[in-house]
This record gives sequence, C-alpha cells and structure tokens, in this order.
Amino acid sequence: MALRHRQALSLHRSSSEFRSLRQWVATNSLSAQRSLQGVSSRFISSSHLTIEQKSDRSNWEHRPSKEDLKFGTTLSDHMLMIEWNVGKGWDTPKIVPYQDLRISPAASSLHYGLQCFEGMKAYRSLLDDNSIHLFRPDKNMERLSNSMHRLHMPGADFDPDELINCIGELVKVDKEWIPSGEGYSLYLRPTVIATHRFLGLAAPESVLLYVITSPVGPYYKTGFNPIKLTSDTHYVRAWPGGTGNAKVGGNYASTMKAAAEAAEEGYSQVLWLFGENDEVTEVGAMNFFVYLINKETQRPELVTAPLTRGDILPGVTRASILDLARSWGEFDVSERYITMGELKEASDDNRLLEAFGAGTAAVVTPVSCIQYKGEDIEIPAVGDLTQRVWDEITGIQYRTREAPSGWIVEL
Ligand SMILES: *Cc1c(COP(=O)(O)O)cnc(C)c1O
Repeated sequence: MALRHRQALSLHRSSSEFRSLRQWVATNSLSAQRSLQGVSSRFISSSHLTIEQKSDRSNWEHRPSKEDLKFGTTLSDHMLMIEWNVGKGWDTPKIVPYQDLRISPAASSLHYGLQCFEGMKAYRSLLDDNSIHLFRPDKNMERLSNSMHRLHMPGADFDPDELINCIGELVKVDKEWIPSGEGYSLYLRPTVIATHRFLGLAAPESVLLYVITSPVGPYYKTGFNPIKLTSDTHYVRAWPGGTGNAKVGGNYASTMKAAAEAAEEGYSQVLWLFGENDEVTEVGAMNFFVYLINKETQRPELVTAPLTRGDILPGVTRASILDLARSWGEFDVSERYITMGELKEASDDNRLLEAFGAGTAAVVTPVSCIQYKGEDIEIPAVGDLTQRVWDEITGIQYRTREAPSGWIVEL
C-alpha cells in the first residue's frame, strides 16, 4: 500500500517532487537541512543513468564454458552503482565496469551488519533466444525496500520501477552473459551497504546500492536430488520481532555453525524450528512446504508457515507457489504453522506425502528425510506435486507456459 502510494508520487515529479522532498528532508533530518542545495533526489531516477562500457574483453574471453559454471563464482563485466548521501538523496545511477569497492574500514556495514541484499534472475526465453526478461522483479524491489526500512537505512523509499529500469539496463549491457537453455540464467545480486565512515552506532549518512550479476547453470544436472534435513532444536534462525522477514546479511552469518554441525552428521541442510512446540519455519535459506493429508479434514493440504509473525522470509518463489496452487483449486492451501509433532504423526499415519524447500536458486528442492530428536522421519521420494510446481514455475520463467499477468517483465 505504502509502496504503491510512493510509486504514484513519483509519477508526478518535477516541482512537486522538489517541494515534497524539501518537506521530507526538513522533517526527517536536521543535518540534511544544512546542505539542501546539493539535492539530487529522494528517488532513484533511471532517466539520468550513465553507462561506462568496459574497454577490454579479457574477462568475457576467459569465462568458463556454460557447462562448467559454478554458482556464484563467475561475475559478468558490469555493475550498477547508486549512492545515497545525506542532504543529497540518491545520486545519479551509474553502470560501470565490474570493480572492487573502496570503502573506509570504519564503514558501519563492516561493523554493525548494516547490509541487505536480494537474489533474482534474468532469463532468456526458450522460445526466442533473443528475448530476455525478469521474473516478478517488483517483489524483489518491495522486499529490498522493506529490508532497508527494517535496518533504518536511508533511501529506503526509492521508486521500485526506477530501480527495475536501472537493473534492466544493466542486464541489457551484459546481455551476452545470460547463458541460453533450460536452467540457465543470469543471477542478479542487488546489495545495499552502509558506507558511512563512523565507528559510532547510528543511522548511516551514506549508503551504496550496487548490483552485480553472475551467470548460473541448472541447479539439478541429472534430475532432482532430494536432500536430508536435520531439524535444529538448539540454534534459532529467526524470532518474532527480529529480522527473519528481511533479507539482511546478519541472518545468514548466524546459521553457519548450525549448517556445519548438520553437515558433520550427514545432513545437507538445517530445518529451522521455533517455539516450545517446535514449529517448522524455513529450511536452510529457503521457504518450506509440506503436502499432507490433513488429519481433521482428511483432505490433501499444502502447508507453509505464515508471514504474520515476522520470522519468515517472504519468498518470491513461496508467493508464486501459493498463487498457482490456489488458482488450481484442487487441494487446500494453508499458511499456518505445522509442528514437528504433527509432521511425525502424519508420517506415522502415512499421511505425509511430500516436502520441499522453495527459493530462487533451485526453485524447489525435494526433501526425503527430516531428523528430529534422533529419529529420521522418511518422506516419500519426489512426488507429483513437487514435479508439477517445478514444471509450472520453470515453464513460466522460460516462457514455455503462460504467465499470470505482471509476472514477466520483458527487457
Ligand atoms: C532468499 C530467501 C528465501 C527465498 O526467497 P526467494 O525470493 O523465493 O528466492 C527464503 N528464505 C530465506 C531465509 C531467504 O534468504
């Protein structure tokens, strides 16, 4: 709601924008008032985007073949950078050759975790190799804005459409870096860091928003690879009132130890629980879905944890699966907590049908086993629903299936 309002505002920019900016700066920041003359904009403006092309082709020429791509290791030639400074707002967006950053060792992102990010992809259509597009980028922009708000970062009220335009231009500049074929894409990593050179704990007076991109290949090279989970009753990923619903770096740092301990015991990911009743929240860095026969109704039900308590990351894949499953209307779809006790009972009664993780990197990851209090709960191998969700979402992403309105943004 608030975002839509801001979007509407930005359509009527120019003099009224300047006036509202003046008001906003006046009421929001005393120090900003001091240097109002230097105003750039409260909003990111794609019409002022500048592009500096990389002059040599060595990076491109030395890239691995697409079959050898390993997630997150190869970076493309260009990056997008937009600075926010107090008193100036968002500076002109710039696309520049990929480069290391120079920031102060005192920058508050390096000390207090004032950092957030996004994960999204640009795809090449399987129908027409020259057609490239994004999948529901408005969702990523909304989430990035929310993450910035949660960290009380300035500039969080950027215009989402303008940032999508800038990201679209970045993708077009590095278009040849989007590998073609099913399962291939250009992974996009928008990131916001506080660059303010100040060791005190305070709202930063400067931030940098940048986007780097990385060509990636299929997560599954030879069919699905179901994973074994261990449910963690010791470490907690997120809690009500915390930052579990924001994509902030600090959420991930605290999971490394649990993940390493799980790996030592032969489990590939951690199933995160919360509360006295061991409610299931998420798996690794994915949302968690379970498909079962409901004990009360005896009807099939697809269940994922609700967003209301604020400890669940609102995944774009999660939202898409819920939208599609509800549109099919063939089984119950619930956003509710499920306890490990209920899962165990469903397994004992042979009512536990399928379980999978959901996220941009792998789309869906089937789960074959969950360890809970020393016991393995086995889950039937990849089922029809997991396969159907996969077929439908990847079909939409690669343009072989019709997309619901607004899901595909052509570049
Ligand atoms: C990014 C992420 C997800 C998945 O979100 P998508 O938008 O579907 O990629 C789920 N859980 C956590 C904790 C995440 O960081």
